[in-house]
Formats: sequence, C-alpha cells, structure tokens
Amino acid sequence: MRALKLFGDRDLRLTDVDPPPPPGPDEVQIRVRAVGLNHIDVWGFRGMAFAKRRLPLVVGAEASGEIAALGAGVSGFAPGQKVVMYGARTCGECRACRDGRDNLCENVGGIMGFHVDGFAQERVTMPARLVVPVPEGVSFEDAACAPIAFGTVQHMLFDNAKLEPGETILVHAGGSGIGTAAIKMAKALGCTVITTVGDDEKGERAKALGADHVINYRTERFEGEVRKLTKRKGVDVVFEHVGAETWNGSLLSLKRGGRLVTCGSTSGVSATMNLMQLFQQQYRIFGSFGCSMRNIRQSLQKMAEGLTPVIDSVFPLEDFAKGLERLESRRVFGKIIVTI
Ligand SMILES: [Zn+2]
Repeated sequence: MRALKLFGDRDLRLTDVDPPPPPGPDEVQIRVRAVGLNHIDVWGFRGMAFAKRRLPLVVGAEASGEIAALGAGVSGFAPGQKVVMYGARTCGECRACRDGRDNLCENVGGIMGFHVDGFAQERVTMPARLVVPVPEGVSFEDAACAPIAFGTVQHMLFDNAKLEPGETILVHAGGSGIGTAAIKMAKALGCTVITTVGDDEKGERAKALGADHVINYRTERFEGEVRKLTKRKGVDVVFEHVGAETWNGSLLSLKRGGRLVTCGSTSGVSATMNLMQLFQQQYRIFGSFGCSMRNIRQSLQKMAEGLTPVIDSVFPLEDFAKGLERLESRRVFGKIIVTI
C-alpha cells in the first residue's frame, strides 16, 4: 500500500509499504480517506530541531477514514463506518486521560505524523479508544478538520477562554484554518467578532463568514483599530496563534480582566512582556495545545448541525508537499485537505 514518508527536511516521498497488521484486541483498522494539513505539518516538513523523532516517518496528524476491520472486544463500530482519529498516542490510563483531558496525557507516545507515524497512508491500525464516529451527513473532507482544527478551536474558546454569548473577540489571522473556524464558532454563539487579515480580499471573505469588523494588519495597527472599535474598552477575548509579531498588540487589545488564549507562534516563539500591565490589567493568559476526545465529538456535532469548516483546497496524496507550500505561503483561506 502507499504511504507518504518524510525522509529529511523537505524530502517527502510516496513509498510502497507493507499494510499494517490486522487489528488486535481493542484495536480497529481504518482505511484513511482525508488528511487535514496544519502548521505542525509545516514544522515537521521544515525539520524542527527540538522534535525527538526517527526518520523516515509517515506524515499526517489529522484525518478521517472508514472502519476496515475490528479487533476482538471492540464494540460501537461497524465496517464501513465513517470515523476520525485522535492525533496523538495517549496512554488512556493516566489521571489526565481518565478525566478526559487527553491532551494533558502524562505518558504521551507522540504526535501522529510528527513524532510517530501518521495518517498519510492507505490504512492504519490503532486503539479503538482514539477513534470517534462521524455523524450522518458530514463529509470525509469536513470530518478531517475535526481532530485538530475544530477540536483545538473548541478547546481554546470554550474550555480555556470560556467565551460567553455577547462578548467581543479578536480573532487573529481570520483566513487561516483555525481562524475561519474561530470566526464561525464565535458568531454561532452570538459574539461580536473582530478579525485581522493580510489582504483586503481575505477581509471580504472573512466578512462573508460573519466577522463584524475586519482589520488589514499590513495597512493598519490592529491594536489601535481594536481600541477604536471597542470605544477604548478593549475586547473580552483574544484568539492568538500568530506569536511574536502580534503578542504585545494582542495584550493591548484586551479589556481589563480580559482573556488571551494562544495555540501557536507562526511568526516567532519569543516575545517580551510588561509584567506590570499583566497584573494591573488582570489579564488571564491560556496556553492551549490540541484538544480532548470530547472536543472532537463536539466539533463533529457542530459540523452535523451545519457549522462546517472552510476548505481552501483539496490535493491528492502525491501533492501533499504542494499543500504544505501553500499553507506556508499564507495564501490560504481555510483548510487544506489531502485525499487518499
Ligand atoms: Zn495518559
């Protein structure tokens, strides 16, 4: 069967591999159908110095598929059923896993497609515990955005920032995969959404998704615009994932007691911070990474109810690298999907 492996920095090759073993007890085998691309794939592709991993490695951290075979003792799944898979090998036994806080697993075996073999292959065998059924009416492409893109946003907005109806939120990079999801989820809740984009065309598209105010961060200082739009009060919540370039402006955009939640640092990992501002303004800052199994189920439910992901483009498996280059270029609006 075909698998897409990373052999070194920017060296992806479609290879012929042996199919995975049949599923053992409490495992399922899945025929993979669609993979969602994320910035973590770009980091892996570029070769992140800190990542402990052995190459070659099958890429792909986020995916959907259909059940191909069931191991002994597995219930709740049937052959042909549409499913999505959790993007990390959690232990299922530590306190965090037992509490449903899977992304805080104390014995995590690695992120799929980054530390350990991922989903860009025709079949995978994995624990049934890490597989979630997809509700009726959700496509493979949309479902492939649930385990990371939608799940991460669900976790950031609701578990961490505890976003409430009627609040105002600043969503950075409103054209990105998670930015588009954040705009749609915040609007569905009844929030006022301010978003930043890098060009006016993306601004129009963000408005069409429901954003109330759009700021072109290349032509305007976003923190100044946010102060104006909120009559100098600031926003309740900032949805951060840009990092160094926007960090201080994001803090300045918050109202007193506001919450900042971040899951990324695409523009750089280091920033300095005014600590007096932090405690005087009583900011609450949340680091967020991945999501729980529950967040994936919530995301799929939203999709079934019509809150679907924005798909930028769909590539075949052999063009995975083209998809990554498109993601890296920031020309995207929404998610990039690779089908198998
Ligand atoms: Zn665990």
